[in-house]
Amino acid sequence: MNTIIEKQACVGCGVRAARCPRACITMTADSEGFRYPQIDAECCVDCGLCRAVCPALKVPAETAEPSAYAAYNRDEAVRSRSSSGGIFRLLAEQVLREGGAVAGAAWNTDGELTHQLVRDSKALDRLYGSKYLQSRTDTVFAEAESVLKSGKTVLFSGTPCQIAAMRAYLKTPYERLLCVSVVCHGVPSPAVWESYRSLLEAQHGAKTTDARFRDKRDGWKAFSLALSFDNGQSYASQHGQDRYMQCFLKNYILRPSCYACRFKNTRADADLMLADFWGLSHIDPQFGDDRGVSLVIVNTSGGQALWEAVREQTTYKAVDLQAAVPYNTAIVRSVPPVPKRERFFETYRTHGLDEAYRRYVRTTALQRLKQRGTWYLFRLRRLFKKS
Ligand SMILES: Cc1cc2nc3c(=O)[nH]c(=O)nc-3n(C[C@H](O)[C@H](O)[C@H](O)COP(=O)(O)OP(=O)(O)OC[C@H]3O[C@@H](n4cnc5c(N)ncnc54)[C@H](O)[C@@H]3O)c2cc1C
Ligand code: SF4
Ligand code: SF4
Ligand code: SF4
Repeated sequence: MNTIIEKQACVGCGVRAARCPRACITMTADSEGFRYPQIDAECCVDCGLCRAVCPALKVPAETAEPSAYAAYNRDEAVRSRSSSGGIFRLLAEQVLREGGAVAGAAWNTDGELTHQLVRDSKALDRLYGSKYLQSRTDTVFAEAESVLKSGKTVLFSGTPCQIAAMRAYLKTPYERLLCVSVVCHGVPSPAVWESYRSLLEAQHGAKTTDARFRDKRDGWKAFSLALSFDNGQSYASQHGQDRYMQCFLKNYILRPSCYACRFKNTRADADLMLADFWGLSHIDPQFGDDRGVSLVIVNTSGGQALWEAVREQTTYKAVDLQAAVPYNTAIVRSVPPVPKRERFFETYRTHGLDEAYRRYVRTTALQRLKQRGTWYLFRLRRLFKKS
């Protein structure tokens, strides 16, 4: 068995494996918990088909000339269960109303995150919210293709590399395929998430029944990771205090391809892009509140039509995308590599997640003091400049 692509380039989408006519490729997790293709050399007849479909080897899609909006769903119940403004739910419901299907990331019965195709509003509940780990694509590309072949619309949602993978998988372009990407910081290792969930399950003496990475009980900006357990107990911690969220946001546990992502910028393969509108208070302080506002980026005419079909159910305003980018650099830039990432994973493998967190990720009292000092200095400088 051999690997077939450099780790830094491979996004783990599984398109080669799904397209090999002889089923010679399997997706196998490495010691960090990320899945990579392994080729069985004895089975392979070197037909070259898999190379032709790999999105990591394709020329990137054209850059789009987008329009952008600040928006949130007027239905407060939907907005509160969503990560930002609850716009995804509106787009998905519109496609379902028209008889189509929607693909997105959801937990399966084994507690793994997989891309699933849903056809009714009830099942759509499973797609709510950002889940901060890589989702497996397994059979979803084939399922989406079969719906498209039957003449129905598919709304495919996911990270920008998953959108590129969906398009690369299809041998012909389908007008009825609409793609909505999330603006993407990077995806954490499913194995690290599994370790963290097991730690919390051991602490609570029960199995997890639900996990929300963007719980808004303390507000949208101070979002919490919240878990429920089957003995009625629960866990919730704001992202700044939670060990897993700190490992994620400090970039220790992302897939290697995320540090030099080829799928940044507004791209014509995503009809729409959704993000958190983090800089909104600097751009339009009157708009929205701390319950979540989305940045909706419209890249294509198909995306425009879908957005126009739902936008009256939102409170929205056209914005200048360039003004929003400095507050959300994930739109255009990859996160920088973390020098101690290798050592983090080494410790994770030998001593477990808690020890790796303690050695490399946790903010020490001295660091906190330094951060506070820098902040006060910054405020003082601004005060002097104003006076
Ligand atoms: C891993 C990840 C990183 C992100 N990083 C940023 C960022 O740096 N900056 C930013 O502004 N926004 C980021 N987002 C997007 C943002 O948080 C919201 O998800 C987005 O704005 C949509 O919100 P919503 O309220 O409309 O709908 P929600 O209901 O919150 O979103 C549901 C959508 O998210 C998709 N989704 C959830 N988890 C995953 C996953 N693991 N893999 C693929 N798709 C998934 C579902 O398929 C569905 O399309 C990220 C999202 C994810 C999943
Ligand atoms: S990027 Fe996707 S298709 Fe290409 S090798 Fe990696 S998993 Fe396979
Ligand atoms: S070259 Fe052909 S047979 Fe070999 S793994 Fe790729 S698709 Fe399969
Ligand atoms: S950062 Fe890039 S490579 Fe990583 S998951 Fe997001 S789109 Fe894919």
